[in-house]
Amino acid sequence: MSDSRPVEAFTGVVALDGPSGTGKSTVARRLAERLGARYLDTGAMYRAATVAALRKGVDLADGVAVTSVVETSRIEISTDPEHVSITLDGEPVDAEIRSAETTAAVSAVSAVPAVRALLVDAQRELIADGGIVVEGRDIGSVVWPTARPKVYLTASPEARARRRAGELGGDVAAVAADIARRDGLDSSRAASPLTRASDATELDTTDLGIDEVVERLVALAAAAN
Ligand code: C5P
Repeated sequence: MSDSRPVEAFTGVVALDGPSGTGKSTVARRLAERLGARYLDTGAMYRAATVAALRKGVDLADGVAVTSVVETSRIEISTDPEHVSITLDGEPVDAEIRSAETTAAVSAVSAVPAVRALLVDAQRELIADGGIVVEGRDIGSVVWPTARPKVYLTASPEARARRRAGELGGDVAAVAADIARRDGLDSSRAASPLTRASDATELDTTDLGIDEVVERLVALAAAAN
């Protein structure tokens, strides 16, 4: 059984990047709880921006139109790891951001440079006070390059598909295809593509349980604090 006491108050910034299905979200939230730190899910912000664009019915290939929707939307996210929630113009959208429709559209919205600029600004404001675990794709490389520790989680494509299918329900092959499609889009976009920062510690979670991953990260965070 793992020790659930917080280590001494963590005042820094942990960057946790990597593709989906690596256990990133669960690990990030648990790590924040262990550190007595806040937690920021930047993917949820891109997802909420996508819900806004879908609701307005704008063409997702029209970067200017998508940006104008995001600019005029109010996205507010809780940084409490025990009460994760996000609102769009004051309305909770926690379920809607995880829908298949939103998931299918989010890579197009997150590829728009001006959308990224808006959300990265908002993320930096939330991170500025420190004491936070931040998960995403570009946290160590772009959003907060001085984060310590800076971790890049990976896992085999099979393990990632199995985990996502377990979380979302559904067919492993279909989930694998969706993951491959999103990885391709996220890694090939011009603005802040998914990439491992050169100074990030890479951790392959294929054969590790969540507790084991969290313990390794707690040790890295304690060493960096
Ligand atoms: O982490 P999650 O799977 O919820 O992220 C959803 C999408 O948001 C990703 O596929 C990616 O397109 C985008 N994203 C991003 N930069 C981040 C976090 C997420 O582009 N920092």
